[in-house]
Amino acid sequence: MLLHMSDGFATRAIHAGQEADPTTGSVIVPIHATSTYAQDGVGGMRSGYEYSRTGNPTRTALERCLAELENGRHARAYASGMAASDAVLRSLLRPGDHLVIPDDAYGGTFRLIDKVLTGWGISYTPAPVSDVDAVRAAIQDNTKVVWLETPTNPLLNLGDIAALAQVSADAGVKLVVDNTFASPYLQQPLELGATAVVHSTTKYLGGHSDVVGGAAITSDDALAEQLAFLQNGAGAVPGPFDAFLTLRGLKTLSVRMERHSANAERVVAALSGHPKVAKVLYPGLPDHPGHEVAAKQMKHFGGMVSFIHADGEQAALDVCSRTRLFTLAESLGGVESLIEHPGRMTHASTAGSMLQVPADLVRLSVGIEEADDLVEDLLTALG
Ligand SMILES: *Cc1c(COP(=O)(O)O)cnc(C)c1O
Repeated sequence: MLLHMSDGFATRAIHAGQEADPTTGSVIVPIHATSTYAQDGVGGMRSGYEYSRTGNPTRTALERCLAELENGRHARAYASGMAASDAVLRSLLRPGDHLVIPDDAYGGTFRLIDKVLTGWGISYTPAPVSDVDAVRAAIQDNTKVVWLETPTNPLLNLGDIAALAQVSADAGVKLVVDNTFASPYLQQPLELGATAVVHSTTKYLGGHSDVVGGAAITSDDALAEQLAFLQNGAGAVPGPFDAFLTLRGLKTLSVRMERHSANAERVVAALSGHPKVAKVLYPGLPDHPGHEVAAKQMKHFGGMVSFIHADGEQAALDVCSRTRLFTLAESLGGVESLIEHPGRMTHASTAGSMLQVPADLVRLSVGIEEADDLVEDLLTALG
């Protein structure tokens, strides 16, 4: 093993699971574009690999690296963040079981639970992630999972992972944290008592808006076995090129997250107090209700910023179509800055439900361009 126990995050991101190829010396893990593997006689596997749905060396390298970065014993990569969430939920829940979800959960997660899993006998109760007592009160006799996102999307509410892990443990329930918004560079939920972490690797982990993927990480051996079983049994696996792109993204995660966070702070400073901005939502602001929790469990406050336009919905829509560098698009976590209107775009499906977002809200995924250019772009678009 190349790595020492004491090696830091950035070192592990670049080297974990990524030893030089033993046959060629290739410094970078090759894209193993193969569906199957030669066997030494019937049932005699040369390499431990037999079929690429079950296992592929490029995917294995990615999974080993992801496990290292979240301080987990096991990781499994999936074709998307939703496939990873589905695998975790179907590993932990059976018909008749119940789970607690954030009352502002990611829309796709809400849809999976509300529209798919309820058809298989699963029930759920929404609770605000920032209210530990409310989450405790939502746990029932048949609850098996507390699902947490922190910070949440797009309102950037904070959940206290350690406190919610304690509440879950007291009730004999497993805490699962969707760590997509923070990334393991900023926040490591397994260290704070979560049973499992899921990611949309599409976002900060891939980091370049060029691949869709997901992952689940845990140190719970029984859960890991279920995740591996479903990865192969249901088959929502990433291809080797997707695994390669994600692994390449991970190498720069630490420097990107530093810059995303620093640029977001510059953007927040420019928006705060601006006459066209009624309110900035960012956990780094001292008046943000989750500021103390964020300061306790996150290394920096991240690259996601939302704000309420002072002049209402049409003005919010206008800003979204007037930026030069901030591209009007869904998704987040790439090197390029994005702007969007959650009410009409990412969260349109929540209209009329309890997850509905304010119509005058604008969400920014602050990229790693020059901060001065990003600030100028926003100030010009605000007019
Ligand atoms: C994007 C996202 C997902 C879903 O991931 P996909 O890769 O798009 O399937 C889940 N959770 C959060 C917080 C996300 O932002």
